Amino acid sequence: MEQAKNDMIVSLRDIFVEFDGEVILNHINLDIKDKEFVTILGPSGCGKTTTLRIIGGFLEPGSGEVFFDGKKINGLPPYKRNVNTVFQKYSLFPHLNVFDNVAFGMRIKKLPKDEIKKRVKEMLAIVDLKGYEKRAVSKLSGGQQQRVAIARALVCDPKVLLLDEPLGALDLKLRKIMQSELKQIQQKTNTTFIYVTHDQEEALTMSDTVVVMNNGVIEQIGTPTEVYNEPVNAFVADFIGEANIINGIMLRDKCVKILGVELECVDKGFGMNTPVDIVIRPEDIEVVPPEEAKLVGEVTEVVFKGVHYEMTVMSGGCEWIIHSTDCCKVGNRIGMKVVPFNIQIMNKMFPKSYNEFVCRVVASDADERRITVSLEDSEFDIENQYFEEGSLVRVTLPPDALSIAGDGVGHIDDVYIESVIFKGEHNEIILESDEQKWLMQSDVDEQVATYVPLKFDFAKATFELAEGQNET
Ligand code: ATP
Repeated sequence: MEQAKNDMIVSLRDIFVEFDGEVILNHINLDIKDKEFVTILGPSGCGKTTTLRIIGGFLEPGSGEVFFDGKKINGLPPYKRNVNTVFQKYSLFPHLNVFDNVAFGMRIKKLPKDEIKKRVKEMLAIVDLKGYEKRAVSKLSGGQQQRVAIARALVCDPKVLLLDEPLGALDLKLRKIMQSELKQIQQKTNTTFIYVTHDQEEALTMSDTVVVMNNGVIEQIGTPTEVYNEPVNAFVADFIGEANIINGIMLRDKCVKILGVELECVDKGFGMNTPVDIVIRPEDIEVVPPEEAKLVGEVTEVVFKGVHYEMTVMSGGCEWIIHSTDCCKVGNRIGMKVVPFNIQIMNKMFPKSYNEFVCRVVASDADERRITVSLEDSEFDIENQYFEEGSLVRVTLPPDALSIAGDGVGHIDDVYIESVIFKGEHNEIILESDEQKWLMQSDVDEQVATYVPLKFDFAKATFELAEGQNET
């Protein structure tokens, strides 16, 4: 197995975690450089806190290795790791004042009184709470309480500070102030910060490196600029910032077809005529007269956002978002120009444009032309099809043949919604059942990370024998 890299303070190798038979971390690998501000970013339930708990020693992985400063630390209890944690709920001692809260850990370690006094003083200066020593923590604002929690966590000089959504309880204004203060504290103390959040703006503002997670895997690791400008897939593009994400076809190197129009781009190596996802940021679309652009559309909505106008434009049956300092009027026909560099090409997250499964026919009725099939843990009837009992049938379904059973009665139950991405015309939804992934097209906004019953419209399906047996 690969070892930890030398200049890394924390390395995770092939970490796998399962709770109640459900995969929470699916073989993740992560290297964190010393003195870096690293943010783990992702939607609720994707495994961010679990990753932090593994690093902190609060949870042992099912398999995989954890390295700290080059040494394997699997099994080492939290108090023996040179790591401290700040949680969203600061867990300060309400009956103690600021000084005593910050001094608590050092008193347990029985450090000399003078040293405790000196270190608390230094730390309170760093978190901008000089002079607050005697103040009861209950009489502090949320932001001040959070700074006491950070001072308490840093005063024993850990090499790594883990922060789990520490600003989540603060209002927006205070959160913004604390974001820049946290970055300053990290730089002043020269400590590695590993910060967990689902707020993309927070991640982009503070971090040296952003780790984007989704559904127990790491989708991308990069600087804030890299994950924003060069997202590796539609999930990252959608999660970080606003984006127009559209289906396209890479015709050949440096040439992509979007909505029937060929556009020059800079990407290579996708092959010929390959279906791809395209991302174009709203601020990268230049509004020009219709005759000057290949993509033309009609403005359907204009909203003033302070610095720019946000315009919704319908083009080729797709909805586009444009941010521009020029204001167009609803009903205007406009040209949309994008320089090749700003057309980002990504591999599709779902490799095919259709769904396919093989099921066994457990009963069949030639007169009624009806079969009963078993798939995963379910059995269901399919009308207007006949195959002999016992045969294996391959079923192919287009994405619009899948839906979420509104009445709760699906063909397969408990299917997990992994991602929902608006593709200009429809939402493209990726779901996961016990044995496979599914691609669904829907006009409804579904909730990610929920379990739903999935229904198939077999009138839109094609059927064929999966084994060398003849259809009758
Ligand atoms: P959030 O932003 O909501 O805190 P997260 O990305 O930090 O989410 P985790 O807390 O790591 O997510 O949880 C990942 C998944 O693991 C969730 O589905 C959660 O319900 C599940 N989970 C976490 N801890 C346990 C546990 N002790 N037992 C069972 N399931 C758990």
